[in-house]
Amino acid sequence: MAYRAVNPYNGKLIKEFAPSTDTEVEEALTAAENFYQNAKKQSFEQRAKQLAALAAEFTKNCDYYARFITTNMGKLINDAQAEVKKTAAFAQYYVDHGAAALANQDYSASAKQPAHLEFSSIGAIVAVEPWNFPYTQVMRVFAPNFILGNPVILKHASIVPECAHAFEEACQTAEIPTGAFKNLFASYDQVTTMISDARVQGVALTGSEKAGAKIAAAAGKNIKKSTMELGGTDVCVILDDADLNKAVVGAAKGRLNNSGQVCTAAKRYLVQSGIYDDFLAELKQEFAKYQPGNPLDENTTLAPLSSKSAQKTLQQQVKDVLAGGAKVLWGDPTPVSGPGAFFNPLIISGMKFDNPMYDQELFGPVAQLYRVTDEADILRIANHSNYGLGGAIYSENLPAARALAAKIETGQVAINQPLSSIPELPFGGVKHSGYGRELSDLGIREFANIKTILG
Ligand code: NAP
Repeated sequence: MAYRAVNPYNGKLIKEFAPSTDTEVEEALTAAENFYQNAKKQSFEQRAKQLAALAAEFTKNCDYYARFITTNMGKLINDAQAEVKKTAAFAQYYVDHGAAALANQDYSASAKQPAHLEFSSIGAIVAVEPWNFPYTQVMRVFAPNFILGNPVILKHASIVPECAHAFEEACQTAEIPTGAFKNLFASYDQVTTMISDARVQGVALTGSEKAGAKIAAAAGKNIKKSTMELGGTDVCVILDDADLNKAVVGAAKGRLNNSGQVCTAAKRYLVQSGIYDDFLAELKQEFAKYQPGNPLDENTTLAPLSSKSAQKTLQQQVKDVLAGGAKVLWGDPTPVSGPGAFFNPLIISGMKFDNPMYDQELFGPVAQLYRVTDEADILRIANHSNYGLGGAIYSENLPAARALAAKIETGQVAINQPLSSIPELPFGGVKHSGYGRELSDLGIREFANIKTILG
């Protein structure tokens, strides 16, 4: 597999990186083990200072790091800068709250003996990460594990090698200790080999269901802990009493942000009958505001997809969706030609449960629209999914929206806003969207030894 940065705006090769050798893999494992053993002698607070330096580095040189995102996977430059700032914020959250989340926790045993829990490191974690948020996804794993004392070895997506390299560079600039973080341009086989190595104690994967099944199987075979942050087909429910403008702007942003390449994107709009016509009319106007262009130009509003391969996959998926009986309500489904990996935003309807594409994740600017009647109808569609990642509800009746949110079978639901990742809040899904939680106090405990001390 080639680790190659190709600009998806113009198809030009930027840089290719040599794959990691088996010797480099072995060196990374040795260095990681050394860090793990040394970190046991340190306090969490010592590492918090080093992590603060990493957060500061991303903040200080935001533009430098952001440019790699835009040129490697096409994200709009403003959004890339926002991602770098969020990367710093994720690190800073664990600087500020990591030690507290790992403080001993008192328990009492039935025999009225004192007992407590201690949280400690377990060893190296392999992080397998996707291209759609090239820095935040890595920081979500690195920051909590570093505070805990677990080293992280990264296998990043092959299309964002400059981002992977830049993350490592940032760690070096911030003087993160040797062995605590290592980027490898690893093959799938090398990932499997690492998972089976005794020095590795866990694997965190963010990516597709297909990759999740492979990596979870390798972890299971070796009795290693894993977390799986996989895809989704999230609903965005617009109730009759929603603030129309808020719902339209939020729903469009929820679907078109990052050119639709977001795990928690609003992939299925469920719109109640009373507001349906007004919502659709305004949604078309809102979608029309998103205009393709050079993602390095701050005025561009619609980025290309991440690669020509992603463009080809989505083109085929849309063809299959339409062949399965759905129809285009708005937008031009004709494939966009030229060197850029652009894709015209589409609003489609008529997606039925028996459409062979119904449960497929469409990773691009394609919104599905459903007219719904009452709560039973909403839940019938919302929960008819193999996935269970997130969702959004727009309604001015907050108690009713919260009650509905509780019945949607996903790991998270946002009300009157697009769902996004926030450092303080657990992030993750159920069903085929995976298991485990990242971010927050829960995220730092995923790869901790939660040790019970009785007496
Ligand atoms: P992907 O193709 O599954 O790739 C994700 C990562 O897994 C890449 O680093 C990829 O490497 C690696 N990989 C794939 N198969 C592997 C194998 N057999 N062994 C070892 N590594 C393997 O997914 P993607 O297209 O990059 O990302 C999009 C997916 O991620 C979508 O489904 C999206 O919903 C999901 N996602 C989920 C979350 C979440 O938090 N739940 C967040 C973001 C994205 P290569 O690049 O070298 O193939």
